[in-house]
Amino acid sequence: MKTIKEIIDYLESLVPTAYQESYDNSGLLVGDKHQSVSKILVSLDCTEEVVQEAIDKHCNLIISHHPIIFKGLKKLTGTNYVERTVVKAIKNDIALYAIHTNLDNVLHGVNTKIAQKLELLDVQILIPQSTSLKKITFFTPPQNLDAVLNAMYQAGAGQIGNYKNCSFSTEGLGAFLPAEGAIPFIGSIAKQETALEKRTELIFPKHLENKILTTLKTHHPYEEVAYYIQTIDNKNQEVGIGAIGNLPNGMEEKEFLKYLKEKMNLPLIKHTKLLGKKVFKVAVCGGSGSVFLQNAMLQQADVYISADFKYHEYFDADNKILIADIGHYESEFYTKELIIDLIWKKFANIAVVLSETITNPISYL
Ligand SMILES: [Zn+2]
Repeated sequence: MKTIKEIIDYLESLVPTAYQESYDNSGLLVGDKHQSVSKILVSLDCTEEVVQEAIDKHCNLIISHHPIIFKGLKKLTGTNYVERTVVKAIKNDIALYAIHTNLDNVLHGVNTKIAQKLELLDVQILIPQSTSLKKITFFTPPQNLDAVLNAMYQAGAGQIGNYKNCSFSTEGLGAFLPAEGAIPFIGSIAKQETALEKRTELIFPKHLENKILTTLKTHHPYEEVAYYIQTIDNKNQEVGIGAIGNLPNGMEEKEFLKYLKEKMNLPLIKHTKLLGKKVFKVAVCGGSGSVFLQNAMLQQADVYISADFKYHEYFDADNKILIADIGHYESEFYTKELIIDLIWKKFANIAVVLSETITNPISYL
């Protein structure tokens, strides 16, 4: 039997909580991570009904997209649905884990799932993050570089898009004077030294900084490792908001909206005025993505699919783009499948079930 920790360590290796938005509360919300997992229930929301479903189906871990505890809790007296859900989970020894905006923000996450449902090609992040990468530069004797570099690659450094193990090295002379108390790898105390060294630079995701530094220091032969770390402005192609891609063949707008309705199994679509042009480029953002309309327009998308647009926000389409508001719940409905697929990729034998509770708080007549 796996523990909750084993499941979440794996999920977070693919979908780090460091990638969640600042307002979010992803991660383990209720429960002991060392507890064994009997069966997992995967849902979009975590409500009292979902906890009941977990009890009925003998699940002791609920993985939901939306975190039930979002703003913080000061009391647990059962006066609202959030408190009642948490109390019910605790009483029944059910752990609650949320994988929210970090799953929105990874390339293989919520938005790529929507893009796959629509069979879009050349899918990329709509707004790649520009604050998630750092660069490390370090100096080694030439004969030690390979061992250090391989360990750094293993730790997650040196990945650019589809290219792994990327680094750049030059050779030069390092100078140093080992002072009293030093145990130098090269040279001797109180004697100025110069040594042939390789200067190597590579990028890494900033949430791995501690791991990368520990790896460098563990595998480097010097007593005092010379290195520096810099924050860089490069956009991370694998982390960010929304997705954008192309239809294999252009479609008339009406035809596309019908296609969208069918592929995403939608009860209705709220959309802006048809512009009388074909749809090729499609931008998507699951959940409340109205604020990213301008980004979709900047990328020259023909359609922007998201949810939770307010009345005045539809005017911002300004006859330049077709907004398709497909509903928050509906836009993220297939996130459950995505989470299950992630778990099964590594833990094929673990018992996981999809929640059958309809948690959409909005009904249509
Ligand atoms: Zn959402």
